[in-house]
Amino acid sequence: MSQMTEATRTLIAPDAATMAIADAAIESIGLHDEGIAVADPATGETIGHVPNRSVQTALEFVGRAETAGQAWAKTSARGRADVLHAWHELLIRHREQIAHLISREMGKTLAEAAGEVKYGSDFVRWYAEEAVRPAGDYREAPDGGASILTRRAPVGLAVLITPWNFPLAMATRKIAPALAAGCPVVVKPATLTPLTTYYAVKLAVEAGVPEGLIQVVTTADSAAFSGAVLRDPRVRKVSFTGSTPVGRQLLELASKNVLRSSMELGGNAPLIVFDDADMERALEGTLAAKLRNGGQSCIGANRIYVQDGIADEFGAELARRFAQVPVGAGLGAGSVLGPLIDDRAVRQMESLTRNAVDMGAELLTGGYSYDGPGHFFAPTVLDRVVANADVVREEIFGPIAAIQRFSTEDEAVSQANDTEFGLAGYVFSENLDRALNVADRLETGIVGINQGVPSNAAAPFGGVKQSGLGREGGAEGIEEYQSIRFYNIARR
Ligand code: NAD
Repeated sequence: MSQMTEATRTLIAPDAATMAIADAAIESIGLHDEGIAVADPATGETIGHVPNRSVQTALEFVGRAETAGQAWAKTSARGRADVLHAWHELLIRHREQIAHLISREMGKTLAEAAGEVKYGSDFVRWYAEEAVRPAGDYREAPDGGASILTRRAPVGLAVLITPWNFPLAMATRKIAPALAAGCPVVVKPATLTPLTTYYAVKLAVEAGVPEGLIQVVTTADSAAFSGAVLRDPRVRKVSFTGSTPVGRQLLELASKNVLRSSMELGGNAPLIVFDDADMERALEGTLAAKLRNGGQSCIGANRIYVQDGIADEFGAELARRFAQVPVGAGLGAGSVLGPLIDDRAVRQMESLTRNAVDMGAELLTGGYSYDGPGHFFAPTVLDRVVANADVVREEIFGPIAAIQRFSTEDEAVSQANDTEFGLAGYVFSENLDRALNVADRLETGIVGINQGVPSNAAAPFGGVKQSGLGREGGAEGIEEYQSIRFYNIARR
């Protein structure tokens, strides 16, 4: 049963001074008080509005981006890099405002929002650096009859559709490589958290990104937007981060004009703890992989597999730590777990917990939501969860740790791979051979070994199976916005 007392169920309230910093940042974007309302998930309060663009306006924006893109494609690599470096500098200079803004509109704690500003800005710096890397090569035909020059050209106008969970990083992870490659973009942020994108794009223009090159479209009718824009012949590329069902719909639309497509979709990450793991590392790694971003991360640990010999100790200690996590507004002093994005998410956590317990799981801590404004759910640990419980089959997207037990390595691997998703996985073991062997056998694009936060701007983030297509970050990320051509030069 839950070990929480009524006293520990008090939520930390947002701090007025920190909210004022966020509100000043929102004010500075210069949007009007009409259109789509944006709410603070910690308080339910409306904090701003963004325009509700029609399909016709979205298509006009496509035209503007395309026009601006013609000059941009001809800008030197160094010229593009300089602009991206200047944007990076402005993001860092405004890091405090951006972190407050992210926390206010998305709910994550200020410390995590500051982490996102760093992570999100890193992509801009990384692609400023990648912009000037060689974009082609020279080779000889094996029979000596030709010289072959390969070159990479910008793929063209890219439509970027981002989710609400990392409002800055999901935008910069797409915009920065697109710009570095020489492409114009139309970016459609999630209507739940569009303000950060507007703020970051405003800074991009101040940094010297040509007017028109980045178009932001917010709309209450996403399906109408993608239905029209992805069929427009001026569009050459779509990059989407979001759920797998929406990704499938977009791939269908993209097939009409055979658009280059990158899809960063849902996950159902397994996290495996072997009995030779360093217990402290495994607990801290699990806490981070599970509770980071309130559990609302596509690479969040979804299924936790613990080897029999240590499972009792691990479960009890994880529950003890979860029960001590201070819950409250992201902008409240000392909050470690913020609200979920909306009330639907809270109802989903209740339903997942109920289903798991009905199917025999033991509730070690949490399992409840909070009354009053805001969308809060307690840090929750379930032990002895059965493999066909909803919490195991579905992407949780909330602060529930669902523990299953295993005895052998083969069993752990086959359970871990028993999902249509393949984004991230985690392995905890002090035996490097074992950790690497298991990592090799996991059907995922990303593996965290003895750590719970594997993302890095230098790494090629992305999934296999139904978690998606393409990679973001690293040298690979810019290739998503380039097309490879070759010139065959006859030799005598
Ligand atoms: P979602 O699929 O509901 O929405 C994502 C974005 O797509 C939003 O901007 C939304 O407005 C838009 N959208 C929805 N339907 C659309 C349509 N028909 N046409 C065009 N746009 C449309 O996902 P979400 O709830 O915002 O985000 C959570 C999901 O995103 C989770 O499944 C999570 O795993 C995934 N995610 C994946 C990654 C990754 O890198 N793989 C990163 C973050 C989140």
